[in-house]
Amino acid sequence: MKRRIIFSYMSSIQLETNSIFNQLSVFGHQKVVFCKDDDTGLRAIIAIHDTTLGPAVGGTRMWSYQTEAEALNDVLRLSKAMTYKAAITGLNLGGGKAVIIGDSRTDKSEALMRRFGRFIENLNGLFITAEEVGTGPKDMEYIRMETKYVTGVPESIGGSGDPSPVTAKGVFMGIKACVKELYGTDSLAGRTVAVQGTGHVGEHLVGLLRNENAKVYVSDINDERLIRVAKKYGAEMANNNNLFDLDFDIYAPCALGATVNSETISRMKCRIIAGSANNQLADEKEDAKLLLEKEIIYAPDYLINAGGLINVYSELKGYNKKRTMQLAENIYEATREVLKKSKSENIPTIIAANQIVEKRIADIKKIKSSY
Ligand code: NAD
Repeated sequence: MKRRIIFSYMSSIQLETNSIFNQLSVFGHQKVVFCKDDDTGLRAIIAIHDTTLGPAVGGTRMWSYQTEAEALNDVLRLSKAMTYKAAITGLNLGGGKAVIIGDSRTDKSEALMRRFGRFIENLNGLFITAEEVGTGPKDMEYIRMETKYVTGVPESIGGSGDPSPVTAKGVFMGIKACVKELYGTDSLAGRTVAVQGTGHVGEHLVGLLRNENAKVYVSDINDERLIRVAKKYGAEMANNNNLFDLDFDIYAPCALGATVNSETISRMKCRIIAGSANNQLADEKEDAKLLLEKEIIYAPDYLINAGGLINVYSELKGYNKKRTMQLAENIYEATREVLKKSKSENIPTIIAANQIVEKRIADIKKIKSSY
């Protein structure tokens, strides 16, 4: 009996430290909405991290989470990251994200998406969504039937369409800012760049780099894409497994996350890492420190891949392609600011970027509280 009481006491402590309210205060969330509908089978979570700068914008991910706790953790983490992405590029947007629990291949229906759209509508513009892993343009169309607070709908119904050219432009500007920091000029002529991943963003990036006469290595696990892109832009094909054995100045990861880790860093001969992939550092704290020690400039991923969010922002303001590309060009100055802070304070670039974001939000919060 006694043992049982102790056990239940311990589990209540455990519950307390992992409690939803505890998690919210650790991540600093403003509002989290749990959405459930028995008719459609909808189970979703909308997390609004911070709306100091503007409405929380973030995609809706549909994923077969093993547990509800896993879904909650994902949405809290992803929505916080959106706050940072929006703030660092100077956009007046906040950070949010939504997850729908389920298999996107089998559990999706028009009714489920529209029901989810009703939940977004009820937030009165506090949260604006877009497509993410497991959701696509068709789903956004269904959500749009119930609420106007959705972006990234197809061009045919007034949306901004494929964001990858804008993302590639932002990455390109980020690369140029790093090159300027290292070599004193931002010309890419004669520099060598290894682009890993020749998908939507990678291909556009290769085009921009080749236009400035950079030498480009490309690698991909999809041979068909690799051969097509290499041929189209005059790039050199590289074996994905031995990429780090080659000599290049800039590594542009445009495929997967976590390709920058203690093992790859020890093999790297490049001076700059700047690409579009999300979560490039396997261990943000430790790998950022290793890069600083090895004097490899790392352009924070969430800053230079913010083109997708810039595209969405433009759509909200009334889409204009030229203006959108100009906004993506601002990533150059934003990256320069991060690199300068990192250098003068001898701190990893990712920490410099985080501190710039936190200061911007704190400053605007103060102004707003004095209204
Ligand atoms: P994509 O799926 O079109 O392209 C990814 C490419 O990487 C594919 O050609 C794929 O074959 C290749 N690839 C996959 N695994 C690989 C591996 N292990 N090694 C080498 N190549 C591999 O995706 P995308 O839209 O071009 O996005 C690329 C990255 O940038 C992703 O990490 C994405 O999350 C991120 N990102 C994209 C956008 C955007 O606007 N599309 C915005 C922000 C971030």
